[in-house]
Amino acid sequence: MMVVTIGKASDNDFVVDDPHVSRHHARLIGEEDGCLLLEDLNSTNGTFVNGVQIMKKRVFKNDVIYLGDHYVLSLSEVLKRDNDYSEEFTALKKIYDDYIQEKIKIQSSNQFKTRLLQSLPFALPGIVGVVMGFLGKGSPTLFGISLFIAVCAPTIGIYLGAKQAAKVPRQLQKIANQFKIDYVCPKCGTFLGEIPWESLKNRKECPRPSCKAKWVRE
Ligand SMILES: [Zn+2]
Repeated sequence: MMVVTIGKASDNDFVVDDPHVSRHHARLIGEEDGCLLLEDLNSTNGTFVNGVQIMKKRVFKNDVIYLGDHYVLSLSEVLKRDNDYSEEFTALKKIYDDYIQEKIKIQSSNQFKTRLLQSLPFALPGIVGVVMGFLGKGSPTLFGISLFIAVCAPTIGIYLGAKQAAKVPRQLQKIANQFKIDYVCPKCGTFLGEIPWESLKNRKECPRPSCKAKWVRE
């Protein structure tokens, strides 16, 4: 049976730093059926669940629990004292997979657009040449125009292609920035780098000595 003692004294399992909380204020008991029982230990300022003072009561994740008048007790924080962040860590897999997919999508769509922009103008002089040859037999003006297009089109194509290629780092930068916010240790918030989720899973815990959050339940 799991028992977590809660209070201001340092010998509690869950230490609360609040002047209105008693030294040994309450305890949380994990029952065999998975339910949680919160018990007040004759505290000075009382324990309240959803606004009602209690001595002993079953509590649930969404209950609003006060120790004394000011301190809000978060059940998930109390249960986190064993440093188990496996649930939150599992959720990071989708973030990593989505990021990689989005990255590939941007890169391949851009490659296609760049090639298209670069190759179209090369095809243009041929078309222009045929049309000019058909319409303007012997006209020096039309010949001049067609020559001009033939010379300039590839240059324009290269320019447009390069411009399209330059868009990619900006789009990639945007998703990379979001990734840096989302792909972090659920406890300490440190960015985990572009390391595949599966590799992190093998590490089992956060490498930061001050964190050591458990990513995988043993
Ligand atoms: Zn961490």
